[in-house]
Amino acid sequence: MKSPTDVSSSLVELECLRCGSRQAPALDAYLCKQCAGLPGDPGVLDARYDYAAAKASLGSETAASAGLGRYAALLPPLPERGAWALQPGDTPLFEAPRLAAELGLARLWIKDETRNPTRCLKDRATFVAVGMAKLAGRDTLYCASAGNAAISLAAFCAWGGMRCHVFVPRRVTPKRLSWLRAYGATIHISEGDYDAAYDEAEAAGRAEGWYSRNCALNPYLVEGKKTLAFEVVEQLGGEVPDWVLAPVGDGCTLSAIGKGFREMREIGRSDRLPRLAGVQAEGIQPVVARFAGEPDPGQRPTRAASIAIGRPRNALRVLREVRHSEGTFLAVPDRAMRSAQRTLATHAGLVAELTSAASLAALERLAKDGRLRGQTALLVITGGRAEEIG
Ligand SMILES: *Cc1c(COP(=O)(O)O)cnc(C)c1O
Ligand SMILES: [Zn+2]
Repeated sequence: MKSPTDVSSSLVELECLRCGSRQAPALDAYLCKQCAGLPGDPGVLDARYDYAAAKASLGSETAASAGLGRYAALLPPLPERGAWALQPGDTPLFEAPRLAAELGLARLWIKDETRNPTRCLKDRATFVAVGMAKLAGRDTLYCASAGNAAISLAAFCAWGGMRCHVFVPRRVTPKRLSWLRAYGATIHISEGDYDAAYDEAEAAGRAEGWYSRNCALNPYLVEGKKTLAFEVVEQLGGEVPDWVLAPVGDGCTLSAIGKGFREMREIGRSDRLPRLAGVQAEGIQPVVARFAGEPDPGQRPTRAASIAIGRPRNALRVLREVRHSEGTFLAVPDRAMRSAQRTLATHAGLVAELTSAASLAALERLAKDGRLRGQTALLVITGGRAEEIG
């Protein structure tokens, strides 16, 4: 697809992950029309590219050096990158040798997504959402969020002079609300949980014609998140860890990471794929249950707010991505997350939010009894605002 600016995208079409039907990549395409209204998984669309073209053009664009714009060939069309002042990505990747030694790993890397503009990897998706909304001539965006996506959207809209409506659960923390207020978002607090806020956001978004920053609805947002994997391959000089671990809520984040690693291999930047481990809280673990072929055990309280999602909207995608990688899913209790949160700070110098510390809690479980001895792993520390700890 030709972009209206100098940024050229190799995007070709959108394919439904549920029924396989294909459609043209309209700027505001959301779910598959064939699958609309059917029970079960929504027809989430997946962006497909011309990889030969992408391989030829990636890195060759003169203006492509800054930020996520250097991956323009493997992203949906975006406005001229010079216009992008608020930059996500290019986050540090560093080793954690003390943790690696304790876990019996050959090497352990940490991808520190707390270093994004709003301290969370959600900014990678928001960058794409706001860019595409601009191309589509829309000035109002919305999202449902446990907090991080909303804070991210609010910040990018503040920068771009766009309006945003954010829908958050009743139990959103006062600290997250104060971030939202600081950026000037219009805040809708649901009477219910994230799932209720999601339904309310979708109803309002449809009725008002706002542009969607819901990652399991707007197929282009996963494309922003996959740049995390692109950077890892770049930062490791083509090397790929044996394991990559990340927390799973709706399933967009880990799916995106898996897709990013597949695409890097597809265009010859790396020669293998990592095994993906998706981590949920013991209190709310629908994807873990579905992976194991067991009934959903229902919901119990968890303080891992960013993954407290009872009805994950991108389950089909993340299950497929993890199976393809020969990976796994596991659930960890809040107490293991709290302990991992302390360990990350005391052994790796990194403050993560509780949800993000779930990745280390899961790695500790996987590595028990030396089962990962000699292997390598990457923890995606998805977010963390220091003042939220405690
Ligand atoms: C959103 C989020 C996740 C999970 O992402 P999903 O796409 O919902 O699976 C993990 N960690 C943090 C900090 C998040 O904000
Ligand atoms: Zn479909």
